[in-house]
Amino acid sequence: MRWQAYHTPATIDEALALLSRYGGAAQLVAGGTDLILDVQQGNHATPQALIDVTTIRGLDAICEQDGWVVIGAATTHAAIEASPLIRRYGTALAESCSVVGGPQVRNVATIGGNVAHALPAADGTIGLLALNAEVQVCTWNGSAVECTWQPLLSIFAGPGKNRLAINQMIGAFRFPMRTERTGSAFDRIMRPQGVALPILGVAAQVTLDENGERATAVTIALGPAGPIPFRATESEAILLAAPRLDEEAIEAAIVAAQRQAELRTSKHRASKEYRHEMVAVLLRRVLPKAIERAQSRSTFG
Ligand SMILES: Cc1cc2nc3c(=O)[nH]c(=O)nc-3n(C[C@H](O)[C@H](O)[C@H](O)COP(=O)(O)OP(=O)(O)OC[C@H]3O[C@@H](n4cnc5c(N)ncnc54)[C@H](O)[C@@H]3O)c2cc1C
Repeated sequence: MRWQAYHTPATIDEALALLSRYGGAAQLVAGGTDLILDVQQGNHATPQALIDVTTIRGLDAICEQDGWVVIGAATTHAAIEASPLIRRYGTALAESCSVVGGPQVRNVATIGGNVAHALPAADGTIGLLALNAEVQVCTWNGSAVECTWQPLLSIFAGPGKNRLAINQMIGAFRFPMRTERTGSAFDRIMRPQGVALPILGVAAQVTLDENGERATAVTIALGPAGPIPFRATESEAILLAAPRLDEEAIEAAIVAAQRQAELRTSKHRASKEYRHEMVAVLLRRVLPKAIERAQSRSTFG
């Protein structure tokens, strides 16, 4: 494994100008915890050059902007886990990033790398999806960079494949700062051996009406449950229509999620049947927790 050049750009413009100049022969790198392993294990050709996005100024910032929480693509899982802003307004994301790998991995691995690697069960990705997050895609047009916000799911093409072109990168993520009667939670089933991805991960966000009984907004993200990160939209519709978010409503939502999810057997992790059962186990944990947090508007930890 040997690349010929390692670039440390200071701006997105510089990074994308370089990336475009290599015409597909260079690769962006952040923490390297997916990419370098993929290259070492022969799952990815050795790039001619690496372009380090962690040297880009401000790409690791977390801030509040016009009613959104904005997270730079090079923000590490450890920084997300520790952020009071994210723990308060995006609890599911703080929880999902807090279980990625061990501390060494979380200190270097980034949320941008987690999403760009495009695995349907990536923990940070599942957390973001439940918060209705958007992704900022930055494009080099030959002389300048243009950045646009898009729904998170729009950049996934399939397992391990994103839709970014060779003149594009992720600049940031953002999710709405819901303040009133909103709560979220994440949980996962993981093999104790610490295989990098979970058997199943689930995150949900719930907003309640003024009486604290009916849902006015619900988002449920699951993975792996298809080729790209999955939204359990049928369960969301059931919970939105329910007169109250009680056990009966949650059980109906579980049946719908089990029906809609494209679960499969994977050689190293779990059977389809086991995952089917775990959809119920995790939703029975995550939904009541999100509802309880919406009622109290508290954060975890
Ligand atoms: C021991 C171990 C345990 C792990 N455990 C977990 C786990 O529990 N849960 C989990 O979800 N993952 C886990 N992972 C996987 C990995 O740590 C995460 O997916 C991590 O978030 C990847 O981020 P990175 O910064 O290291 O990405 P990199 O490896 O640097 O990059 C990954 C991909 O993203 C691209 N990329 C990076 N930044 C950008 C950007 N800004 N714009 C566009 N493309 C970009 C790169 O070109 C590359 O294709 C584990 C990995 C290891 C080694």
